[in-house]
Amino acid sequence: MKLILFGPPGSGKGTQASLIAKKINIPHLSTGDILRSKLNDNDKLAQELSQIMSSGNLVPDSILNPIVTEKLLSSECKNGFILDGYPRNKSQSDFLIDFLIKNKIVLNLIIDFKADTNTITNRIIERSKIENRSDDNLEVIKTRLEKYFTETQPLAGFFKDNFKGKFFEINAMQDISKIESEIEKRLQNA
Ligand code: AMP
Repeated sequence: MKLILFGPPGSGKGTQASLIAKKINIPHLSTGDILRSKLNDNDKLAQELSQIMSSGNLVPDSILNPIVTEKLLSSECKNGFILDGYPRNKSQSDFLIDFLIKNKIVLNLIIDFKADTNTITNRIIERSKIENRSDDNLEVIKTRLEKYFTETQPLAGFFKDNFKGKFFEINAMQDISKIESEIEKRLQNA
């Protein structure tokens, strides 16, 4: 099962990705988590990533694309994957589509999480009390949302038009369990 999840920060796609990953035993590839795991390295890349991520801006494609393709080609992903947080802009999307075609990888499902700005801002503020992320504060949230709505959301339109029957929107303001069961139904038919 090969899935892509779209949705703004705080829309709950990470939570749902973890649930699906456990249920059907495929890896949850969160580019945010992968990048955060590199922040602890004591090197130049960690410094560069820390600066970009704590400002809410996007990490360059030249760093992201090889990380993602290496993962997708690894044995870990032989039975599928859930991409969470990638692609995030048009050039990543073009790169990914090209890569999937070249490697004969066929997507099963693309889910777009929909939630309003107030809800997601409040959720991120709540999350900041539990997790210690440098980008979970009001100023940076504004930048992250702006990046999402200008660069990432338009990609969902592309996937909607080009992956008919595989692309679904989900109301991400519902309870976690309700969203989970809606996704479960989609997975059964994918
Ligand atoms: P996330 O955990 O998905 O909210 O990502 C946290 C931060 O990691 C983002 O604000 C970006 O700085 C960076 N990031 C994650 N995924 C990507 C991506 N696909 N392209 C560029 N930057 C990314």
